[in-house]
Amino acid sequence: MGEASLPPPPSRKTATVIPIAEQRHRTLLPRVPAQTRPANGMLIDALGRPLRDLRISVTDRCNFRCSYCMPKAVFDRDYAFLPQSSLLSFEEITRLARAFAAHGVKKIRLTGGEPTLRKHLETLVSMLGELRSADGEPLDLTLTTNGSLLTKKAKALADAGLKRITVSLDALDDAIFQRMNDVGFPVADVLAGIDAALVAGLAPVKVNMVVKRGTNDGEILPMARWFREHYGSAVVLRFIEYMDVGETNGWRMDHVLPSRELIERIASAYPLQPIDAQTDGETAQRWRYVDGGGEIGVISSVTQAFCRDCNRARLSTEGKLYLCLFATQGHDLRHLLREADASDEQIGGALAEIWTHRSDRYSELRGAGLAAPSGQRKVEMHYIGG
Ligand code: SAM
Repeated sequence: MGEASLPPPPSRKTATVIPIAEQRHRTLLPRVPAQTRPANGMLIDALGRPLRDLRISVTDRCNFRCSYCMPKAVFDRDYAFLPQSSLLSFEEITRLARAFAAHGVKKIRLTGGEPTLRKHLETLVSMLGELRSADGEPLDLTLTTNGSLLTKKAKALADAGLKRITVSLDALDDAIFQRMNDVGFPVADVLAGIDAALVAGLAPVKVNMVVKRGTNDGEILPMARWFREHYGSAVVLRFIEYMDVGETNGWRMDHVLPSRELIERIASAYPLQPIDAQTDGETAQRWRYVDGGGEIGVISSVTQAFCRDCNRARLSTEGKLYLCLFATQGHDLRHLLREADASDEQIGGALAEIWTHRSDRYSELRGAGLAAPSGQRKVEMHYIGG
């Protein structure tokens, strides 16, 4: 693989707005092997991990400015989001997704940015709904959203073939939530979006709460109580450890509330017992309320890294393939589509080449104190999707 010629990364001192734009262009050009083998759904990376889950960012824009993800100070009026012409079209996304499915992907999650901001998203959902996995099954199609547009869009998305949905909500207290989303968006409107998703048949809805110690950890018990009392098993609340994704959120380890501590806090009010994962490579550890009040999940990517089971690939808004949420560079698949005019077979061959060489395990290395700064900037979450 050849690295596109790029200016060196800027020094940390000057790192405010410009470096993120630079980051988007740090690119590896995929190599198309001279001979390709037909895809058989069995691609394995260098650490023995299969390819099963594809996350597709359909826009780098968001209508929220969550301080831990897209802080206003960086993503302001002057920030240069991607122009429309750089975005993969729905046809391009579907063509790439078909190649991924042939190599073993069974699940696709649409994300962003805020994916519901992408016009006619339901058209993409129905196009992806036509795809089949290597063993001939429809793909598990899901979406992660901040919920702000769901009262308008949940039904159309479900009608188009969306199977499930995950809604992000970091607090029930309006003052805390509005401080975190930093655009004054009210809790009640997200809850209305969750209700709309349930009415549309997208049950069980998963609700993701990122926990930042000192910011919203006082909301853990109110959230647990609210969702078990109002929704029971129709909603699965999942708590995510605040992660050091990207370079703009000023992450610090003392802002992370370890899942172990979180489980102790909830169990002291509502006893819990662990339950088995439903699928291989599942990100959340599952717990059930002993009294039958439903289940919760914890995603402990900081304190209990799960790289060894990671079967996820991420496709950025402009068609770069990232092999890890903490990656510093992406493989330019759009180049294959637009400049190289590659055939489906060649695209499949290039994908196989990339995945078989994958050895990323950032979180494990960070946990072991080995993820020394590489001098390269980690990609931002809104750009490759959560
Ligand atoms: N806009 C959509 C949403 O709000 O769900 C999709 C994109 S968002 C980047 C996906 C998920 O990543 C959200 O649940 C968000 O809370 C989570 N997230 C963003 N930054 C994070 C961080 N630093 N640590 C942990 N989770 C984060």
